[in-house]
Amino acid sequence: MKNNKEPNILFSSQQIHDRLVVMVNEIEKDYRDKDLVVVAVLKGSVLFLADLVRGFSRPLAFDFIGVSSYGNSRTSLGVINLSKQISIDIRDKDVLVVDDILDSGRTLGWVKEHLCKFGPRSVKICVLLKKEVERVIEVEADYVGFTLADVFVYGYGLDYRDRYRHLPYIAKLGDDEVPPGETVDE
Ligand code: 5GP
Ligand code: MG
Repeated sequence: MKNNKEPNILFSSQQIHDRLVVMVNEIEKDYRDKDLVVVAVLKGSVLFLADLVRGFSRPLAFDFIGVSSYGNSRTSLGVINLSKQISIDIRDKDVLVVDDILDSGRTLGWVKEHLCKFGPRSVKICVLLKKEVERVIEVEADYVGFTLADVFVYGYGLDYRDRYRHLPYIAKLGDDEVPPGETVDE
């Protein structure tokens, strides 16, 4: 393991914010006549959600769902566990699920199926990042901030071993690297 002196930034804070302006415009247009409820997936979506909803000019509601997939620090095993149920009624509402990243599709596939049980009028998916990988579960994102190759990223909501979610940018990490500031025992 080696630790970089500088983060390997893939998307800067400015790039993210510029992209969000365009995404909000598109989403607002599509939901013009709809009763929008944003359901954000904890915890990775929190920074994205906060910046995204601030761009909306029309009323909306938001809520959270908590799911975790057990695994090690970089890969998920695919067993989904519901840690927080939604707390508002989404029956007949137009739901937009917001998450940090679409990878294998297990999380968002599970969340979409779960939310459909509450009888929403529609359910669409909005992710900041989409990995160009083969999905284990077939699920499409309707709104995507950026696409990226199959690399591990952290920052702007995404964690490395539960830390670094607060960073205003998204950085990538090689297989043998840890983030700057992380201690390496050799
Ligand atoms: P999926 O269920 O689509 O495989 O993965 C979705 C979840 O895995 C994401 O919500 C995120 O928590 C985690 N994940 C997938 N790829 C990455 C990554 O590159 N970095 C981090 N920090 N988490 C990731
Ligand atoms: Mg997540």
